[in-house]
Amino acid sequence: MTKKDYYDILGVGKGASPEEIKRAYRKLARKYHPDVNPGDKSAEGKFKELNEAFEVLGDPKKRTQYDQFGHAAFQQGAGAGGFQGFRGFGGGDFSSFEDIFSGGFDDIFNVFSGMRGETRRRAASGADLRYDTTITLEEACSGIAKEIQVPRFEKCSACKGTGAKSGTAKKTCPKCSGTGQVRQVRRSFLGQMITIGMCDKCKGTGTIIETPCPTCSGSGRVRRTRTIEINIPPGVDDGSHLRIAREGEAGMNGAPSGDLYVVIHVEPHNIFDRYENDLYCKTTIGIAQATLGDEIEIPTIKGKAKLKIPPGTQSHTIFRLRGQGMPDLHGRGKGDQQVKVVVEIPKSLTKKQKELIQKYADETKQEATIGKGFFDKMKEYF
Ligand SMILES: [Zn+2]
Ligand SMILES: [Zn+2]
Repeated sequence: MTKKDYYDILGVGKGASPEEIKRAYRKLARKYHPDVNPGDKSAEGKFKELNEAFEVLGDPKKRTQYDQFGHAAFQQGAGAGGFQGFRGFGGGDFSSFEDIFSGGFDDIFNVFSGMRGETRRRAASGADLRYDTTITLEEACSGIAKEIQVPRFEKCSACKGTGAKSGTAKKTCPKCSGTGQVRQVRRSFLGQMITIGMCDKCKGTGTIIETPCPTCSGSGRVRRTRTIEINIPPGVDDGSHLRIAREGEAGMNGAPSGDLYVVIHVEPHNIFDRYENDLYCKTTIGIAQATLGDEIEIPTIKGKAKLKIPPGTQSHTIFRLRGQGMPDLHGRGKGDQQVKVVVEIPKSLTKKQKELIQKYADETKQEATIGKGFFDKMKEYF
């Protein structure tokens, strides 16, 4: 069986640079990866072929051997020169997976979220930030645009986040040939085990910096306090949070930024209590207002409103003002304002007031009565 030329497999010319080879490999590997083509044998075959080609052409030393001797250079069988890595697919040997999908392919990551690529991406991207801000209930009701000052690490502009001094370039890590990973073959009583670890020379990035950027000392990021405008939507409640994508800390070495979470606290209000989208408040009226009826002015979150007290209003009656509560955060209408009316009994009276009340008492012969319902309830106990 004549083997296909490795350069043909990757679709690159003999003079291709290591970067071109890597790029070609990544592009094709994404296309033929078994996780993208489940059950497709021809894609699996293609993928094996690609890995085999890249194992050789991606390694400068092996590439030179291949250029001189062709496939013959690698026909001593498995084990020779540590060259058996990518052959099997059953044994969890997907080290290439993260490598293929790393590097800003967000659309791909979304497809594979929760899979191997995701953990790698999280590790590589910058930290999420939390910022706490306090607003008033009025601001929570109307929504508010706010400027917040967030101290954070940002991408260094001098080196564009690469960490390498402007005008110099990063070099492919010689220890891991740019994969960021080192494979170790260990023999145990269970047989041969391949473990994959992060390359310690390049800390898993695949590249090393020879001349670090003086502005950021090679980290690719600098500390800055950034003013960010946030739009707090109407209806937010205490403890709500806003996620502002990619406004967290810049990742190391140009990796994507984390997210910014703004946690919103709503100050307690001196008039209103909130429960879900309804607002609760209490007002007091006198016995004459309760008895004869009145129209009173009450506060609302947006200003003032008139509330009609019908004659004969009992203490602790709750009146509902429709639509005067908080707007729903998801745009589903508005809550109500509930007003509890408490009738205040005067504690001290002038002589004249006393006489009038006494007159009223004589007129009505009012006595304490216990409602029938109360006795019914009592019977249940005995
Ligand atoms: Zn820099
Ligand atoms: Zn390395």
